[in-house]
Amino acid sequence: MHNLTDLLAKTKRMMEAKGVNDILITSDQRLLYNTVVVRWGKTLTYHRLGSYAVKQNLITISRSLEDAPEFVVIADIWHELLHVHFNRKQGNKAHSRLFHIYEERCPQFKDAEKYMRELCLKIYCKKHPKAHIVERNGKTYVSTPSSAPVRSSSVRAMDMIQSILNKNVFHTEEDD
Ligand SMILES: [Zn+2]
Repeated sequence: MHNLTDLLAKTKRMMEAKGVNDILITSDQRLLYNTVVVRWGKTLTYHRLGSYAVKQNLITISRSLEDAPEFVVIADIWHELLHVHFNRKQGNKAHSRLFHIYEERCPQFKDAEKYMRELCLKIYCKKHPKAHIVERNGKTYVSTPSSAPVRSSSVRAMDMIQSILNKNVFHTEEDD
């Protein structure tokens, strides 16, 4: 399992090299950025792989990423650090267009995103034995056997996992 404190320091160095820190405007933001702490979450998740809690100034990285390559964990920390930069208290939307521009400055961002999406689908299938992964035209989907009764609750879950394919899989939980 990666040492997250080391990876946080490494991610910050990479961000600084890409000029991302230029968007830290207030001294409060800088203080949060300089003192933010990162820890592993306790459970396997598939719809959210990281979160940032402003009050505790704490980034939590999902246990799902414990065996992921370093560049994937860095991309996850990078994303959560951007929530320090784009603090909602400054009136920012959680994932604005500008947020995504800075997110894509992360090296290997596309590869990390792909890895995370596929990982989420695998974990989803582990937790839902009737679901399985299918590849179609180079894209990954989750499917259930047509003979299996589909309950409304699982339809909603399926909608969610399918939407993961088209959206960012890391989301944030912010205390206000
Ligand atoms: Zn987010």
